[in-house]
Amino acid sequence: MIQLIKGFKDVLPGEIEVWQTIERAAKETFENFGFQEIRLPIVEKSELFSRSIGDTTDIVEKEMYTFEDGKRGHITLRPEATASVVRSYIQHKMYAADPIRKFYTIGPMFRRERPQKGRYRQFYQIDAEVFGIDSPYLDAQLIFMLTTLLATLKAKDVKAHINSLGCPCCRPKFQKALKELLDAKKEHLCENCLRRSEKNPLRVLDCKVPACREAVVGAPSILDHLCDECSDHFETVKRVLTENGVEYEVDKNLVRGLDYYTRTAFEILTTSLGAQNAVAGGGRYDGLVKALGGPEVPAIGFAIGFDRLAEIVAMQQSIEAPGPTLYIAPLGEKATETAAHWVMQLAARGISCETDFSGRSLKSHMKRADKLKAAHVLMVGDDELKTGRVTLRNMTTREQDELPLDGLVETLAQQFK
Ligand code: AMP
Repeated sequence: MIQLIKGFKDVLPGEIEVWQTIERAAKETFENFGFQEIRLPIVEKSELFSRSIGDTTDIVEKEMYTFEDGKRGHITLRPEATASVVRSYIQHKMYAADPIRKFYTIGPMFRRERPQKGRYRQFYQIDAEVFGIDSPYLDAQLIFMLTTLLATLKAKDVKAHINSLGCPCCRPKFQKALKELLDAKKEHLCENCLRRSEKNPLRVLDCKVPACREAVVGAPSILDHLCDECSDHFETVKRVLTENGVEYEVDKNLVRGLDYYTRTAFEILTTSLGAQNAVAGGGRYDGLVKALGGPEVPAIGFAIGFDRLAEIVAMQQSIEAPGPTLYIAPLGEKATETAAHWVMQLAARGISCETDFSGRSLKSHMKRADKLKAAHVLMVGDDELKTGRVTLRNMTTREQDELPLDGLVETLAQQFK
């Protein structure tokens, strides 16, 4: 038997209801905040990711699914959505009429990571990006929107962690101070961090290896190195979050994996998923649109790990797919054909409807209707077709009604609308 590939997974009925609930809630919440949906390809030129995410990141260094595609050169299954959204914003000159645009997109991402619980090679993200606004009010609003969505979904044990990563004006000074400390602690750093400390020392703060965590305990804080503008920006973000009832924790070691972040960076962490505790992450990336060939337009966004959020939501509530509104139980050949016709008519008119063509007994039909959790059962035999009346049973109250055959589809469509 051919099985799926390790690190990939099927989302089956039973689980999908939670996914659908999340997707509906995300769409509704984001649209209330003025976001529009955007759908993008899952493959892009590899260069898009190496230029935006950064050559020194784990994703680009070792996790991308990259293929040679003839004359087109190297193409990559997208490891995240931001780069594609930015590419699309620039390519279609969406900034021309109005630089302010708010997008969300939902779909699969691919990273060749070591598969484990909560970490897949194909996983899904719900991604939101805003272009053209540099105000800290927006940073706070995005975090508020994210926590609002989580509250709507009754996700417990989640908390926002925030930091500021400064800007090209103040970050280099901090990087220098950090590098000095890292140079002094070289022998304690893991192989990856040794490399990172040369190219992108900030990323060492993000390392999960215990020895590296230990090594950066007394590290300088980026928050002590922010320029006045970045500092004011961060203070406003914090104030607005507090004023709007968002609980958060400032985490000076929160740097996020990707190179393109500036100023506000944030993550939603949970205590209920074990090691893979990040449910969502995001931040401001004011320089990326320009770096990818667009105009100077500030931007900010976040990505929710859909798979992880689904796990959290499933822990809190069981969401079952509703059964059909109507199950038609035909007895006899003619009745079965009539039932087939009614199901098509009713389903086409928006009434969820089921039947069975296998010539079951009434008892066996009732069992099946129960199993499908049908709300009503319509019983029709060849005899009823002759007498012109059928029986409708409410499966909750067990009450039965007799309905005339004449205009039955119309009667049912009206009743169940
Ligand atoms: P990132 O783009 O790395 O900031 O990831 C954003 C969110 O996507 C994380 O907070 C996770 O919830 C989720 N995520 C990232 N990588 C994976 C993965 N390999 N498997 C499942 N979820 C992931």
